[in-house]
Amino acid sequence: MSTEPFAAVDVIRAKRDGGRLADEQIDWVIDAYTRGVVAEEQMSALAMAIFLRGMDASETARWTGAMIDSGDRLALKVARPTVDKHSTGGVGDKITLPLAPLVAACGAAVPQLSGRGLGHTGGTLDKLESIPGWRAELSTEDISRQLDEVGAVVCAATDGLAPADRKLYALRDVTSTVESVPLIASSIMSKKIAEGAAGLVLDVKVGSGAFMKTREQARELAAAMVEIGAAHGVRTTALLTDMGTPLGRAVGNAVEVAEAVEVLRGEGPADVVALTLALAREMLDLAGLTEADPAEALASGRAYETWCRMIRAQGGDPDAELPRPRHVHVVEAGQTGILSTMDAYGVGVAAWRLGAGRERRGEPVQHAAGIRCLVKPGEHVEAGRPVFELHTDTPEAVPAALAALDGALSYSVDHPADGDATRDDAPAVGEGIVLEIVRS
Ligand code: URA
Repeated sequence: MSTEPFAAVDVIRAKRDGGRLADEQIDWVIDAYTRGVVAEEQMSALAMAIFLRGMDASETARWTGAMIDSGDRLALKVARPTVDKHSTGGVGDKITLPLAPLVAACGAAVPQLSGRGLGHTGGTLDKLESIPGWRAELSTEDISRQLDEVGAVVCAATDGLAPADRKLYALRDVTSTVESVPLIASSIMSKKIAEGAAGLVLDVKVGSGAFMKTREQARELAAAMVEIGAAHGVRTTALLTDMGTPLGRAVGNAVEVAEAVEVLRGEGPADVVALTLALAREMLDLAGLTEADPAEALASGRAYETWCRMIRAQGGDPDAELPRPRHVHVVEAGQTGILSTMDAYGVGVAAWRLGAGRERRGEPVQHAAGIRCLVKPGEHVEAGRPVFELHTDTPEAVPAALAALDGALSYSVDHPADGDATRDDAPAVGEGIVLEIVRS
């Protein structure tokens, strides 16, 4: 006879019929799934029931707690206030690279445990691994030491963090149950809370290159994550930011590192600088460092110095030449006019097909692969002038990348289109890239 306190079928039936799951049922089902007692097919049925019926805020907070408790919490021993950032993922989203050293240069400690890319959105670790010598794997002791000495760490998440989420995320991927607000919110927040930072800023992307295609969906996800943070004692703020157009002019690995370094040197594209500063200000607020001036830290070179120390601490050479592609293909404008739209999803898929991303976990990526956007929406272009540079080591990938870019650009004769579906009502906060802020 089973010694388990519940039967999986009863938990599934309760949710299937639209009921609330009791705290004890949630704790048990996550623990039993992690132990292999709840079978994959039973968890698939439960995930689909949750997908269809939802979970309320307190069920979602409890579900998150159970996933955190399935593994270890990072025991950070750091004197500075800790604050972290998470992005739901976008095209050209290299913001972690300038942001972590910038916030550290202003006095906080930023433990940024990151992932590798899958599909059309890139991974922070893949980008940083294009720096010769840089290594992503650090022990908890290394992380604490680097946070004390440098103030910023970007490294791989350890296997011990929220193992229930790793198992469940893989299952959701193959059972069409990814796009559920309580499941996405609990998945992201379980990993972030297990990392142990006292404050968290979420960058919830909205638009064609993001998970959340509309502002309403993004707002709902942001509110769910902010509530989970509050329930677990982590001060959390979410920014809804535009991902209809790629961020900056570089999409890929080494090309994005180069652009991040431009920002750290006080230059770089205006949208990347604006978003980096907006996120930095929110992080510093949560860390209680309200007097800090991130714009000054960028302009003075202090953020760049912290970047160099952060890269060196993980074996990298910040002065080394970044990998160059074996092949560059130039795409020319089809007409003269003002570029009105550049579809982030199309550009992301094209960069991925050029080799910047992977199709299956564990596959290598090409560090030199990616796209440089030579023109951005709002800029004038003449027919026949270059609009994209496609970088790859495998020129046979170019036709598939070009197919992804087909229809990605639109032009107008005299003004850029402002009909972006993501910009539905209030005026944008912060130079157009930050659409809304959700606080607890
Ligand atoms: N990222 C995650 O970590 N989990 C999800 O469910 C979706 C995106």
